[in-house]
Amino acid sequence: MAIYYAGIDLGGTRMRAALADSEGKMVRRSDALTERGLGSERIVERMIEVVGEAMGGERAGVACLGVGAPGPLDARTGVLFHPVNLTTDDVPLKELLEDRLGLPVRVHNDANAAALGEWLFGGHGQTQHLIYVTVSTGVGAGIISHGRLIDGFNTTAGEIGHTVVDPNGPPCGCGNRGCVEAICSGSSIARAATAALGTVTAGRMMTLAGGKLDGVTAEVVAQAAREGDELASRIFFHAADTLGIAVVNLIHLFSPEIVIIGGGVAEAGDLLFGPVRERVLRTAMSLPALGVRIRPPGLGQDAGLVGAIALAMGAGIDR
Ligand SMILES: [Zn+2]
Repeated sequence: MAIYYAGIDLGGTRMRAALADSEGKMVRRSDALTERGLGSERIVERMIEVVGEAMGGERAGVACLGVGAPGPLDARTGVLFHPVNLTTDDVPLKELLEDRLGLPVRVHNDANAAALGEWLFGGHGQTQHLIYVTVSTGVGAGIISHGRLIDGFNTTAGEIGHTVVDPNGPPCGCGNRGCVEAICSGSSIARAATAALGTVTAGRMMTLAGGKLDGVTAEVVAQAAREGDELASRIFFHAADTLGIAVVNLIHLFSPEIVIIGGGVAEAGDLLFGPVRERVLRTAMSLPALGVRIRPPGLGQDAGLVGAIALAMGAGIDR
């Protein structure tokens, strides 16, 4: 019988599932909206429906299901700790899914899953040293070093978003100040722009936002910057440059060959990648930075979903 792997990318707005063959090639996919605040049982019900659709008639051949989920989570037990964007209770995801599906299930945080996906299927060659940084609502990283996913003692390694780069900087959701996430995430960029605009009602950002302050998103800031708006350029540059500092730190710590930057904010393209590369050129030590490539994800928006499949396949992971 043919062997298959299944994967689910559990996002704050959508859950996406796919079935892949033994080579990791996608056979079928399905997706649904992630409804918030329904409690863990209902979330698991929805996940089972979605992955059931993706597995279809091949269900009996599925060897493992991989799930990329928002952290914080414990990858050993597969428990999500009150994932704020989904529900207020803890979700014993691995146990619930294994009971219901009768399949082995591997759960890891979405950045780690995406790192595995890009490493195995992103078209980056035979590297054993790749870091995936996601910049969207939050900021996180998945670190592949010597061909292994580095997740550490409590399986939480890679939280680059909560490393402090400015102790006097803006407050972060984690309780600290000046974390990378508090400056570079999409919501932080929007917040900085909203604060800077204050009572200003004119200008490119306000026009793009439809005249409403709460319509100012990171995309609006990026677009206005591209059109030459000075305030927008300054705000977006500060976020991109700060991300560059985080990337330099990652390069100094792990000596990666490839750094992938994905997530919604990375869709700003050169506006983000330019200042990041510039910061690396200017401030990284020459030997660690030698030959390091900084790129967008080869898998585009599918990095997380393909990553969940890679997780199911088990390469590079110890549990
Ligand atoms: Zn933080």
